[in-house]
Amino acid sequence: PAAAAAAAQPLLNPDELIDSVETFIFDCDGVIWKGDSLIDGVPQTLDMLRSKGKRLVFVTNNSTKSRKQYGKKFETLGLTVSEEEIFASSFAAAAYLKSIDFPKDKKVYVVGEDGILKELQLAGIQYLGGPDDGGKNIELKPGYLMEHDESVGAVVVGFDRYFNYYKIQYATLCIRENPGCLFIATNRDAVTHLTDAQEWAGGGSMVGAISGSTQREPLVVGKPSTFMMDYLATKFGILKSQICMVGDRLDTDILFGRNGGCKTLLVLSGVTSLSMLQSPNNSIQPDFYARGISDLSLKVAS
Ligand code: PLP
Ligand code: CA
Repeated sequence: PAAAAAAAQPLLNPDELIDSVETFIFDCDGVIWKGDSLIDGVPQTLDMLRSKGKRLVFVTNNSTKSRKQYGKKFETLGLTVSEEEIFASSFAAAAYLKSIDFPKDKKVYVVGEDGILKELQLAGIQYLGGPDDGGKNIELKPGYLMEHDESVGAVVVGFDRYFNYYKIQYATLCIRENPGCLFIATNRDAVTHLTDAQEWAGGGSMVGAISGSTQREPLVVGKPSTFMMDYLATKFGILKSQICMVGDRLDTDILFGRNGGCKTLLVLSGVTSLSMLQSPNNSIQPDFYARGISDLSLKVAS
């Protein structure tokens, strides 16, 4: 095992961190909002960072919405954020396929919700599947054979509340039988917080089902994989050492920042508590931790 990372420090001098980077990447759920509620102090902190000339980027592993749909969500919450500043894992899947020049005559089979379909459409990539797929009768009489489209060149799997057995079988046939068919996951979050009363099965559960039947590991485009970080660094022409990744989750956000060689700030406004951070079972340490992003606005008493 690698040597243990230095223990995270409380954020005592926010200005020092702010001055040391030019870009902040913010995770969304647990950092900017919780479900549909804005987290306290967020607008003021984003305004302060913009007034200091910092570039702000928003990254989410939730693939159910497109960039445009997230743009509306920011607007509804009273935040001025443009679509070009938003990088959801739905967009990441489409951006990845574009980056490899996914052939125009091939199609993508989507296990996932509307966000992925919208982003593929914008990227000019043909697709089938999506939330409404399946629910069709599978008659397991002798000789029954499920057909599948041989022009499917990639299966993209994300969070799907309409997941079913038909989708598993269709995706499995494409991946196992179409030569060179890619298996792409938007994210592998084990759980998500659809309500604050309990944890719910996350995108990793759908990905796991198809990994189980195909015995293949997917290529992940969301956090903590480096695809998005490399994409952002190239797109904006930024050095990763000039980025601070801010998130509420250790195994996605903080690992994403660390894998990318960025500075990292864990906020305790989401799914991670101080005791989880400091548990001997946790090996992922951010550089700093704070109660929420509004701690970035705190002034050090002089
Ligand atoms: N996936 C789903 C389905 C979600 O509902 C959420 C959070 O709402 C996430 C992933 C994690 O999102 P984020 O990366 O913004 O924390
Ligand atoms: Ca989060």
